[in-house]
Amino acid sequence: MTVDERYLRPVKKSGTLVANELIQKRRQQNCPTYAFGFGQSPFPPLPRAIDALQDNASQKYYAPVQGIAVLRESVAAFHEAAEGIKVPASRVLVADGSKNLLFTAMQALKKAHIFIPVPAWVSYAPQAALLGHPVIPVPTTFENHWRVTPEAMELALARKAVRDIPSMLLLNHPGNPDGLGYTAAQLRALAGVFRKHNVIVLSDEIYGLLHHKGEHRSVALDYPEGTIVTGGLSKWSGAGGWRLGIAMLPELLDGAFKEAMLAIASETYSCASTPVQYAACQAYVWDEVTKSYLAHQRRILSLSGNRIADRLNQAGIGVHRPEGAFYLFLDFSMHAEALRQAGITSSQQLCEALLRDTGVSVLYGDVFGMPSNHLSARLAYVDFDGAAALSASENAGLEKPLDESFLRQHLPNNVKGTELICEWVAAKSAGRPLKAA
Ligand code: PLP
Repeated sequence: MTVDERYLRPVKKSGTLVANELIQKRRQQNCPTYAFGFGQSPFPPLPRAIDALQDNASQKYYAPVQGIAVLRESVAAFHEAAEGIKVPASRVLVADGSKNLLFTAMQALKKAHIFIPVPAWVSYAPQAALLGHPVIPVPTTFENHWRVTPEAMELALARKAVRDIPSMLLLNHPGNPDGLGYTAAQLRALAGVFRKHNVIVLSDEIYGLLHHKGEHRSVALDYPEGTIVTGGLSKWSGAGGWRLGIAMLPELLDGAFKEAMLAIASETYSCASTPVQYAACQAYVWDEVTKSYLAHQRRILSLSGNRIADRLNQAGIGVHRPEGAFYLFLDFSMHAEALRQAGITSSQQLCEALLRDTGVSVLYGDVFGMPSNHLSARLAYVDFDGAAALSASENAGLEKPLDESFLRQHLPNNVKGTELICEWVAAKSAGRPLKAA
């Protein structure tokens, strides 16, 4: 049986998953690897959530499409206490990952212009393309910390082909691929543009609770009428494989739009796994246990992210210190001439050569929408044993600041991989070969 390729959709596997497969292959061959390509939380879920998952393994029935009521209540109370987002349980949707909720929200619109910042997370543009929605990029710059500005948003909105088709913007902060956030003033200014143009903001806040200072500000605070906030257990609760995502809808979409999302869900994924939903009730509790669990993750990520950013900056790689999540977006342009002489003129070539020569895997900038000749790459500083690091941090206590020795002991690959990147660019700049790893 064959299918004529003309009838196949021109889709490629997500770049992040490909990076993960490459690194697994190197590991099977016992090659040294520094896995900074795949953005997965290294930390374990909260123990009480794991216990609840075991206790609820026998919950074998389908759950309601929107999610079990007790979880939706917990999510609503949690996000109000943690971030001040006021959305009742009736407007919380639960699904098998926020990725599916983003897709379902875009799918609820028969036609839409989808606005996507550049760079942005790998799956937004392919999802829009699968649905046949035209994408309008919103350019950002290194100097602007890869943030969408009101001016850039206005210019992008002016490019709409048909004015009355809905506008939907994918906004993500703290951001993947850059780890950067928006200030309250920036969000207020953007909200003015969104309001003026009636933009639906799909605010992907999956890393909100991993803001390193615990100062995440939701877009929903400044633009409550038009913001759909998405999140879930994958990042702050270290449970990507559990597949549990949530969306919080604004009041104005609590009618036909919500019903369309639920109808699509009922015809596609049906519901999130029932045992996982019961387990999630134990994660979505804003108490001292959760606060401490987050505080330890944040300080480990902040220390490592800042050290890596500082070290790479010293080596002439452009990068901002992170504000949240576990990503850094690297700009190798300062070494463009030396890299060109080594035959490297695209971000994909750069990442392939770096992996081949050093065993360090980072993800090339194209997959985030950057032009392929822009020498950029995303580094996810998550190559460490999160369970061991978390318990060491807990044993040290929050009063005692963590230092370099903590990084060397518990995050050695983050330290060594960073040094290898620095040695590699230094060798390239000097026109020297670096011994293949
Ligand atoms: N949004 C961003 C920015 C992500 O980085 C990811 C996962 O990598 C997701 C959404 C998907 O999260 P989930 O596991 O909830 O589907």
